[in-house]
Amino acid sequence: MKAHDGMYIGGRWRPARGQDTIAVVNPADEQVIGHVPAGTAEDVDDAVHAARAAFPGWAATPPAGRAARIAALRDVLAARKDEIAKTVTAELGSPPPLSQAVHAGVPVLVAGSYAELAASYSFEEQLGNSTVLLEPVGVVGAITPWNYPLHQIVAKVAPALAAGCTVVLKPAEDTPLTAQLFAEAVQEAGLPDGVFNLVTGLGPVAGQALAEHEGVDLVSFTGSTAVGRQIGATAGAAVKRVALELGGKSANVILPGADLAKAVNVGVANVMSNSGQTCSAWTRMLVDAERYEEAVALAAAAVAKYVPGERVGPLVNAKQQARVRGYIEQGVAEGARLVVGGPEAPEERGYYVSPTVLADVTSEMTVAQEEIFGPVLCVMRYEDTEDALQIANGTVYGLAGAVWAADDAEAVAFARRMDTGQVDINGGRFNPLAPFGGYKQSGVGRELGPHGLAEYLQTKSLQF
Ligand code: NAD
Repeated sequence: MKAHDGMYIGGRWRPARGQDTIAVVNPADEQVIGHVPAGTAEDVDDAVHAARAAFPGWAATPPAGRAARIAALRDVLAARKDEIAKTVTAELGSPPPLSQAVHAGVPVLVAGSYAELAASYSFEEQLGNSTVLLEPVGVVGAITPWNYPLHQIVAKVAPALAAGCTVVLKPAEDTPLTAQLFAEAVQEAGLPDGVFNLVTGLGPVAGQALAEHEGVDLVSFTGSTAVGRQIGATAGAAVKRVALELGGKSANVILPGADLAKAVNVGVANVMSNSGQTCSAWTRMLVDAERYEEAVALAAAAVAKYVPGERVGPLVNAKQQARVRGYIEQGVAEGARLVVGGPEAPEERGYYVSPTVLADVTSEMTVAQEEIFGPVLCVMRYEDTEDALQIANGTVYGLAGAVWAADDAEAVAFARRMDTGQVDINGGRFNPLAPFGGYKQSGVGRELGPHGLAEYLQTKSLQF
């Protein structure tokens, strides 16, 4: 794997200010595959200055001009899809088909959607005797996690660029090679110098310096609730804009009239994808008492097909592996029934966790409340629709969810009462234009589509 030993700042690769590096490890075999520089507050400062210097020119570039550059970026990402997929597989461990279709494929769709939106969005509106101008917020500090290394970057950078903002990115320490590839793509696409800048480094060092930097106007963060809370507090103290995309504990509600086999199979696939490292995963499956055992049996059969090392990859690192195994143990200790899988590691090498089904999970259990972030499905029983709603809404999170019913109208009626930001109705299909983000402690703000673009704009009204 190719690793740059510098930072991408002001349109070129520059040596890092410090000597420290971060080792990048392939989680499937625990081998070191490269090193990237561990950025310091000085590197962050350089990058913010470059972004600030580039801001007036980029903000003044007509939307059609910004759209053309984003379209060029989309084309480079599409042309380098194989290389991106291989890099994600190497540093995240995801199976090659998933890397191709999702990790490399979805960012092309999202970048494409912003190339179109930049050109078509109304950056000006008329309200009575006022003209409202929608202007870019300024310099964006983007801090991203490792679970969808490129998607998380593109979901922040593409709308920021479309809005006319400039960006400094601090990607996750586990997946910096994908971020470096993205910086190469930005350079190749001919974006003006300083419009996008990359500082690799540790969260509490480079990430924190970026979040605290007074030259950053908006911090967009995706990751754990603990760090999100800290970033929100820092931004609040500085009266700075902030967008937080945090954890989830989403419910897959299977109503009595639904096609049970389909709902269970799609639900299992949703949880097992990316080894369960998806913030919006439907980790709690809710089934009515009458069909409960049938659903558990179907889930167990479906999960058994997810063979570690084949259809399901490892977790990203040893810490996450230990954390997920700990949750499985805790679930059993608190009374859940282990149906398949378990806390034992299925492979000697690699940070694998056995795909696991826990049944008889109740809302009081830790595994029903905390984000596990691994290939673990909790199956829960409900007595009637009101009980199902109470269970579905009974966590501090509200990021996503699913409802299955005999018809869409019944599912929609239930979805309207769910405290969550996105609900798939009888299966649903991914839509890159649909707003994504949380109710309650799942976050603040929205990503993707026009709602994601609006996050990077501020309004000015002119009265006539
Ligand atoms: P994390 O929140 O520590 O890391 C996310 C990003 O924040 C990384 O780029 C990291 O370097 C940076 N960061 C860490 N500390 C920081 C600080 N003090 N200031 C600024 N930036 C900082 O997440 P993690 O430890 O990698 O994962 C832990 C848990 O977070 C997971 O088990 C999961 O529950 C959750 N998570 C959620 C998502 C999501 O998409 N919502 C993604 C990854 C992880």
